Amino acid sequence: MIPPLDGIIRVTDVFGTARGTYSHGGIDLGLTNDYVHRKPIRSPEAAEVVAIFDGGYPYGNAVAIKGASGVWRFMHMDEPPPVAVGQTVPAGGVLGLVGSTGNSTGPHLHMDVAPEGEIYDFKISGERVDPLKLYADAYATAVGYDSEVFRSQITMESGWDPNISSFADAEGVAQIIPRWHPAMRGKTFDPFASLDYAANLMAAHIAFRDGDYREALADYNTGRNSSGDFRNEGYHYAEIILRGKDVMATTSELELLRADRDRNHAQKLGALHHLGVTIELLNRIDPSAFASDEDRAAHDDAQKYYHDPK
Ligand SMILES: [Zn+2]
Repeated sequence: MIPPLDGIIRVTDVFGTARGTYSHGGIDLGLTNDYVHRKPIRSPEAAEVVAIFDGGYPYGNAVAIKGASGVWRFMHMDEPPPVAVGQTVPAGGVLGLVGSTGNSTGPHLHMDVAPEGEIYDFKISGERVDPLKLYADAYATAVGYDSEVFRSQITMESGWDPNISSFADAEGVAQIIPRWHPAMRGKTFDPFASLDYAANLMAAHIAFRDGDYREALADYNTGRNSSGDFRNEGYHYAEIILRGKDVMATTSELELLRADRDRNHAQKLGALHHLGVTIELLNRIDPSAFASDEDRAAHDDAQKYYHDPK
């Protein structure tokens, strides 16, 4: 899924903020290192344009699209969008330019999404969800990490607040510590970059731990080399996230699988050793000791492979 803006994104108002008579049904976005005014707005996914709003109150110049994840709206554009109803747009296709038309106090992008939504008079029916959750689902799914566990993990990390910091210098929606993750320096408060990075990091931990989510989550929380009481904090974190979820073999099943793998490995090494000893012994036998030409031919044949394994 493509972030809606190029550059380092910041969330200027989160999903669900109380606004008098209603709660904010989407997220408001700007950029960290650049003015956002007239920057291109990109479609998160391949979609069909289903509605356009005419520039007036409250949405300003705005566009609604329908893709696999639901109905999305993008509002307060600087000018009428360069797309028409019925047109399809690819993932990353430009839907318009950021502006401040309609009920807006300064240039920003408002985006919202309803997974089961429909559009009527530019109103959206169906429950709207935090768009960051759909991005999290997409990033997790793309790397083979269970999206339900990832949502639970992000809830545990930040409660989906992209702007929080912890006393331990963990920053943003995925609580990344920039000191340990130099690639994320300056980007930890960009929830799109952070969620993508965190999903990939978890996929690496899961692969490293042979699919063991409990170990992988503990790695995310306390580091791969943690031990003792500190490691136990990681397990506690993992158990809260995994509670009620059936996403991995149980620890005892994984231990059995690993024991089986190690046993198979030991048996293969044993068989190879035995084969080597047998060949050594055969080489020491005087060819005249063989009872038949057939046995001698078999011995010559075996020696060929022994001396030239290729
Ligand atoms: Zn908004």
